[in-house]
Amino acid sequence: MTMKETLDLTGKTAVITGGGGVICSVMAKSLASQGAKTAIIDLNQEASEKVAREIEEEFGIPSLGLSANVLDKSSLEESKRIINEKLGPIDILINGAGGNSPAATTKLEKMEGAENENPEDTFFGLKPEAFDRVFDLNFKGTILPTMVYSTDMVKRKSGVIVNISSMNSYRPLTKIPAYSAAKAAVNNFTQWLAVHFSLTGIRVNAIAPGFLRTNQNRFLLEDEKTGQPTQRSLKILGSTPMERYGTPEELTGTLLYLVSDLSKFVTGVVIPVDGGFSAYSGV
Ligand code: NAD
Repeated sequence: MTMKETLDLTGKTAVITGGGGVICSVMAKSLASQGAKTAIIDLNQEASEKVAREIEEEFGIPSLGLSANVLDKSSLEESKRIINEKLGPIDILINGAGGNSPAATTKLEKMEGAENENPEDTFFGLKPEAFDRVFDLNFKGTILPTMVYSTDMVKRKSGVIVNISSMNSYRPLTKIPAYSAAKAAVNNFTQWLAVHFSLTGIRVNAIAPGFLRTNQNRFLLEDEKTGQPTQRSLKILGSTPMERYGTPEELTGTLLYLVSDLSKFVTGVVIPVDGGFSAYSGV
């Protein structure tokens, strides 16, 4: 064992899908802070360009903000062509685009079957198309970018993929069956691909963030009118032994560990970064 492994990413090129968003913009910045060139991929071009500009200003390292849809292979291929031309071959992929949808969320936590209960508020009110959308974004939206961006890694026999999972992947959270099942599928795929790629020099792992407050879940955590914490928010904090929400910055240590040589014998794991949530029975 040599002790020369470090977090240094100088000369590497990292692609971050969903990089215009709350968590992945911070992740992209943390990769740049260790010397990586970054390609910020987002459906929202304005957001990806803004993050890339901020990175170039703060770290003085090339960063590209591009628009691509993680569900459209040809748009991913087009972005890869530009990344290769401007930044070089891809070494690191963070599959961060993902999220839930209100139409795939039940109003009630538990159905009682009472006469005055509105079926629309239960499992029976969920929209099948919304299941498709949430499943596609989180699951297929991890698979397609991996297919497109990891080809450079295969050629160079070296690379790292980090998928972004969630607490709901271990045990489903109430109200969000599609999002929970889709993230469970992300964990399962992380293990599958880690094995499939194990002789190629490419490692595949995932991070399961605990509870953070961001745009996509604000509607579940704060009353729209008053801004007061919802019952759900109080439950989350009560189930998080550290009794607080996490911040995107608190995910970056685990990310840097997973993309660097410090974890070079680590593949196929999903690491919770959750203030103890997944370890706590609630009693
Ligand atoms: P966010 O909404 O701020 O970021 C998601 C980004 O993905 C957005 O910028 C959006 O434009 C982009 N995006 C959406 N659809 C896309 C598509 N088809 N193609 C390309 N880009 C697309 O959300 P976030 O909270 O930063 O979440 C980032 C990741 O972390 C997601 O995978 C999410 O499921 C996961 N996560 C979030 C939390 C949380 O508490 N916020 C917890 C666990 C896991």
